[in-house]
Amino acid sequence: MLKPIDDFFQKHNIKVYGHCSLSNSDKEKILLSRDIVNLLNSAIVFGIPLSGSVIMNLEDGPDLLYLHHYRQANYLLDRISFGLATIVEDCGYMAVPIPASQIVDWKNQRAYVSHKHFALLSGLGWFGRNNLIVNSVYRSRLRFATVLTSIRFETEPKILGFHCGSCRKCIEMCPAGAITETPEGFNHIACFEKIKELTRQKNISQYICGMCIKACEKWE
Ligand code: SF4
Ligand code: SF4
Repeated sequence: MLKPIDDFFQKHNIKVYGHCSLSNSDKEKILLSRDIVNLLNSAIVFGIPLSGSVIMNLEDGPDLLYLHHYRQANYLLDRISFGLATIVEDCGYMAVPIPASQIVDWKNQRAYVSHKHFALLSGLGWFGRNNLIVNSVYRSRLRFATVLTSIRFETEPKILGFHCGSCRKCIEMCPAGAITETPEGFNHIACFEKIKELTRQKNISQYICGMCIKACEKWE
């Protein structure tokens, strides 16, 4: 990582961050103008942990405390992305800050990029059975943001393999039955339908759930 970027993350107490190169296949999936995408070479990804205590408070789906906390996490991620993009541009490179949580293609439920995909490629965790990035320290409660840039980094991170092992806690916890033995088998439609039902019942104005984050935590 370039020193100004390292310094920026340290100043903002960001402990989980990394970078990865953009392959042609990655670039095809970015929902931005081709004029910009053709000039981009890498993604800088960083994560902030949701409060373990707020997650522990969840009982049978999302609650108002989690809703507020989730929104604040996204605001914080977006503010940090904004500042990081300024630093990168000041260093003479292009930088596109991607919102932490913004669907731009509702039909296919897609954002400009998949932060989780880039977090995986950046070695920040593995794809768990719950379809979330599992980090060795913060488990599944990291939320991510990405800044796409023209920087070409000299080193590539090591991608982590599947480390869920014999754990099945999220399979047992999921009210939708959406989680299976493998991340590839994750049932996105069942998950989304259950989230819609839970948020409607509880009058939560955002599509969130949190139960498979809670399941993944190692409580002391
Ligand atoms: S978000 Fe909720 S419904 Fe979706 S997989 Fe996780 S626990 Fe299941
Ligand atoms: S709860 Fe267990 S199986 Fe589910 S993602 Fe976390 S480590 Fe993997």
